[in-house]
Amino acid sequence: MSIQENYHHIKNRLPQHVQLVAVSKTHPVSAIREVYDLGQRVFGENKVQELTEKQSELPEDIQWHLIGHLQTNKVKYIAGFIDTIQSVDSEKLLKEIDKEAAKHNRTIKILLQVKIAEEDTKYGLTKDKARELFRLSLNGAFPNIIISGLMGMATFTENKEQVRKEFMSLKVLFDEFSQDKTLETLSMGMSDDFPVAVECGANSVRVGSAIFGQRDYTK
Ligand SMILES: *Cc1c(COP(=O)(O)O)cnc(C)c1O
Repeated sequence: MSIQENYHHIKNRLPQHVQLVAVSKTHPVSAIREVYDLGQRVFGENKVQELTEKQSELPEDIQWHLIGHLQTNKVKYIAGFIDTIQSVDSEKLLKEIDKEAAKHNRTIKILLQVKIAEEDTKYGLTKDKARELFRLSLNGAFPNIIISGLMGMATFTENKEQVRKEFMSLKVLFDEFSQDKTLETLSMGMSDDFPVAVECGANSVRVGSAIFGQRDYTK
């Protein structure tokens, strides 16, 4: 199927209230423009350098989301334009984003990335650490940051029940936090598991290969 067909297929499968983040990593600017021309405005990238290069060549009204691990020393390259950083996984990073956002007179939206996968993954906050950071933020510790929600990635497995269990555990945390502050975004689900994520309460999904096709890392 073409990118256009893929895009419409995904859009048709998503309920109205679910935001689609089109994950364009490894794909060229021309492919992003094709999806932009279909009306998509929210795109996700996972590497700072690739993101800044693409951002400079594409329309200003794109809302860029960073979805990959971010090193503190690279925050400065994206602080001027990034809409949402979905992959905040340490207090140090939160502080750095706050500092850089202030320099640009901006507030940057972030999601706390929480480790929900049972498989060994490198990144993501424990639920307790996420609670602690959320609490600090409620107390005004990060004036130039808005914690707008949570992000999680499930174990890479065919076992849908495992995936469902992990997504549900993040939904429970999301509901817990929502008692103290209205949170906009629960970001869960990728090309292979977004229908399960939506069933579990995701209102934002990050879909790459199901729109743009397989990624070729050898290029
Ligand atoms: C690459 C990536 C996605 C998209 O993955 P697909 O399987 O291609 O849909 C979503 N989230 C994160 C964090 C990613 O790195």
